[in-house]
Amino acid sequence: MKNTKGFNLLTVVIVMILTAIFALLVNSISQFVVSNGVNEIELRDAESDLKGLYSLLGAATIRVRHHVFDWAVFDEAYDYIQGKDDRFVARSFSKIKINEMHFTGASIYDLNGNRRAFVDGSNLAFGEEWIDAELQVFDRVAQMFKNCDRDALEGFVNVKGVPMIVAVHKIYDSFKEKSPNGYLIMGNALDSRFREQAQSVSGLSFSILPLCLYSTVHGIIIKDNFKYLETPEEIRVFSIINDIFGEPAFSLELRKPRNIAAFGREITRKNFALMLVLCILVLCAGLVILYLAQRRMIYNEMDYRTKHDSQTGLPNDKLFHERLACLIKESEYNDVCLGVIFINIDNFKSLNDCYGYQQGDSILREMARRLQDLVSSGIISRPGADNFLVAVPAKNQNYVVDLAHTILEAFNKPLSFNDSILHIGASVGIGFLDKDSDDSFSLLHKAEHAMVNAKNRGGNGISLFDERMRTTAIEKKHIEVALREAVDNNAFSVHYQPKVDIKTKDVAGCEALVRWQISEGRWVPPPVFIPIAEDNGLIIHIDMFVLRSACRQVLAWQKEGICAVPIAGNMSVRSILSDGFAEEVKRILEEEETPASLIDIEITESCFITDMKKAFTAISRLHELGMRIALDDFGTGYSSLKYLSAMPISFLKIDKAFVDDIFSGKKTAQPLVKSIISLADSLGLNTISEGVEDKNQLAFLAGNGAYIIQGYLFSKPLNAEDCANFLRNRKSRILEVMQAS
Ligand code: C2E
Ligand code: CA
Ligand code: CA
Repeated sequence: MKNTKGFNLLTVVIVMILTAIFALLVNSISQFVVSNGVNEIELRDAESDLKGLYSLLGAATIRVRHHVFDWAVFDEAYDYIQGKDDRFVARSFSKIKINEMHFTGASIYDLNGNRRAFVDGSNLAFGEEWIDAELQVFDRVAQMFKNCDRDALEGFVNVKGVPMIVAVHKIYDSFKEKSPNGYLIMGNALDSRFREQAQSVSGLSFSILPLCLYSTVHGIIIKDNFKYLETPEEIRVFSIINDIFGEPAFSLELRKPRNIAAFGREITRKNFALMLVLCILVLCAGLVILYLAQRRMIYNEMDYRTKHDSQTGLPNDKLFHERLACLIKESEYNDVCLGVIFINIDNFKSLNDCYGYQQGDSILREMARRLQDLVSSGIISRPGADNFLVAVPAKNQNYVVDLAHTILEAFNKPLSFNDSILHIGASVGIGFLDKDSDDSFSLLHKAEHAMVNAKNRGGNGISLFDERMRTTAIEKKHIEVALREAVDNNAFSVHYQPKVDIKTKDVAGCEALVRWQISEGRWVPPPVFIPIAEDNGLIIHIDMFVLRSACRQVLAWQKEGICAVPIAGNMSVRSILSDGFAEEVKRILEEEETPASLIDIEITESCFITDMKKAFTAISRLHELGMRIALDDFGTGYSSLKYLSAMPISFLKIDKAFVDDIFSGKKTAQPLVKSIISLADSLGLNTISEGVEDKNQLAFLAGNGAYIIQGYLFSKPLNAEDCANFLRNRKSRILEVMQAS
């Protein structure tokens, strides 16, 4: 399955860095937006405060003007200018009076601009020299006012750095019935007292600065005579106030603590903290999700691996049992039949030994693919080794049996492999769900017992489970023990099956077949004990026993004058590949004084597959001795032209399975038999057809040039005495069969 990487640290670090960058970015952007907005707001606020300050100053100016009006439109002042009341100044404009009225100074002029009186109310607050400057400024205002035709004028003046509000008004009689006769100027210095009062009334913090300071402020100029300076703590706005003469007189500075900015900063900080917490939460959540997702993936992967076969991708036995348990419940509920098919590839070990494990694996994959093509519903599994399982619910048992046949046919389809064509055989067992086997394990065991039974019957076939099969495994153990005893006690016998040459209508030879009787009337069939003997190596003793028996028998029949045809002994792969095999055969022939020409050897293709070189040496040695070799069960194994042409073989034995199929209706059956016959012909070999049971098969084989026939049609394997009888009467027996055909 998919490649799963662990929960890796690098991913975590990258995600954390990205989160930090994201948080910083968001913070910078929000800071930028907030600070820009705050600056704008604060500046507007400062501007409006400045306007408020102007109004404050304006109000102070008006107050001064009112005072001046009171004193200027006044009979006593009028009379004073007329020279009628010289004591007016001393009485009403005394220093003390001016001071009480919070004025810094006052001056009275006649219409020609001649000063008539001057009173300073500063109390030397700014020094003596300053009083002179004040007088000069008043005189200057008077000169300017003289030339204008207004009744009153007010504004600011700068007296040696001290800003002052001045107001001038023409002097009238109290009812303004007469023409003015002079003018009165009064000034009010904007000293610290004024500033304190103004600040406490307005709540504004401001300073009045000398003009020269304005130019030294490196603030941002907004418009003419207006600039501002910002620090993190406060905003300072500067503006220039013109004097009554229209010249810049002094600078106003307004200070505003940056409350909004501080608030904005606070908000940004909180925002950032919130952002950070959110990012960390999102990060943690992301990491947790990532971690869980990866754990899920790993779990799925592990789950897949623990439940599937890595080679074929099919469910393994664990998953098979799980699914089979469900299928059992479903089938019981729906009251349908449920069958389990157990398939085991025949001779898979030899295939592996011959072609290597890699090719063995690809055979398994190919078989899995064929199975998948066939089984659309139900479960397919490879529980391991060369086994496959299929579980199918069906309407009836026939459906499952038919499916098993189709599966076997699919397995049997030739498989091209390098330069060889492989015919894969399989043993197939079927078990059905019933009351005795209503769980997945017992159902599977039934199918397995049936498969073993099919294997024991020679393989490449199908067996339905039968209660008697349950004992097979236990029996196998018993057989193994009994087999050893049988070898020790020479408990075997040999039966002989004649091979008939229908051309000469005579016996061409006999095949020696081992027989084992374990008790009265109980025979163990060779397909049951031969594989066990092959497994534990006892087969070598058996083969040599049969060989020695054949030698003795052939000589006995010869001596008796019955017949002198060769007898063939079957040699298992284990025997052929055992050390000193050929020498052992030679020794037996010598000991029994039997000519090699009277003993044939039947071997199977599997010996070439297991160890081609050793098999070739052994077979060649037998051939040199003068023995003829027959290749048994031809076509069921790994038929390769390579060894067919290289080996010193005399006969091809057409396997019973092909003979059985001749009239089975299978399309390929007859062409296959014909091609084996013509292949043998082209290689200069004779054929022996085994398992011929009826006359149609005989006719077909004879018609296609296969003349040596072995099978129940002529005779079953017989004990020595019965076979001797057959041989004695062979001519009539053969004629009898052939005429009946
Ligand atoms: P095989 O070498 O192919 O022997 C032929 C088998 O087919 C024999 O079974 C024989 O009885 C059976 N047979 C012959 N004609 C017919 C027929 O017309 N119809 C039917 N249904 N069967 C027929 P058997 O004797 O049971 O032997 C089975 C196998 O056991 C042999 O197959 C051979 O592979 C093995 N075997 C038997 N004896 C020996 C032996 O001495 N040594 C070795 N290594 N294997 C042996
Ligand atoms: Ca044989
Ligand atoms: Ca055979």
